[in-house]
Amino acid sequence: MRVDLSDMESAVLKPISSMAAGGQAVLANTPCAGCKFLRRKCQQDCIFKPYFPPDQPQKFVNVHRVFGASNVSKILNELSPFEREAAVNSLFFEAEMRLRDPVKGCVGVISFLQRKLRQLQIDLFTAQSELVKYQSQLQQKQQQHQKMMMMRGYAAEMVGSFGRPSLAVGDDHQHNTLGAIS
Ligand SMILES: [Zn+2]
Repeated sequence: MRVDLSDMESAVLKPISSMAAGGQAVLANTPCAGCKFLRRKCQQDCIFKPYFPPDQPQKFVNVHRVFGASNVSKILNELSPFEREAAVNSLFFEAEMRLRDPVKGCVGVISFLQRKLRQLQIDLFTAQSELVKYQSQLQQKQQQHQKMMMMRGYAAEMVGSFGRPSLAVGDDHQHNTLGAIS
C-alpha cells in the first residue's frame, strides 16, 4: 500500500498536538473517552483520563480496536507517569497505521520512508558527481585560459624586449646582404 507522506505527517503530528491540548482540557466530572466507551465510571485516578480526553473519542476507539483496552491499561500501569504520554502517542500512531494498513502497519510507513531515503541518497550522490564533473571542467577551462594568457603575455614580452634589436639585426642583415650584392 502506498502511504502519502503528508497523510503520515499529519498522523504523526495530530496525536502529539491534540494530546498537549487535550490533557489539560479534561473537566473533572466528565468521564474520559476510555470510560465513556467502556460504559464505566471514570474514577479520579483513572489511568486513561490524562491521555484520552472526552473530546477525542476516536483516539481511544482506534487504540482499543488494535490493542484492546485492558492491554493499554496494563502497559500504562507498568510505565512511570512521565513515560505514559509518549507511550499513548506511540500506541495511537501504531493503531492508526495498523487500521490503515492491516498487513504492514507501521512497518509499511518505515519501509516507505527508507525507500524514499535511499532514493534521495542516490539522487544526492548523482548530483554530487555531476557537480564534481562540472567543477573539474571549469577548472580545466580556467587552467587553459591562464595558460593562454601567460603565453600571450610571454609573446608580448618577447616582442617588447627583442623588437628593436631584431630590427637592428634586420638592418645589419640588410646591410650585409646589400654589401654582399654590391
Ligand atoms: Zn476514565
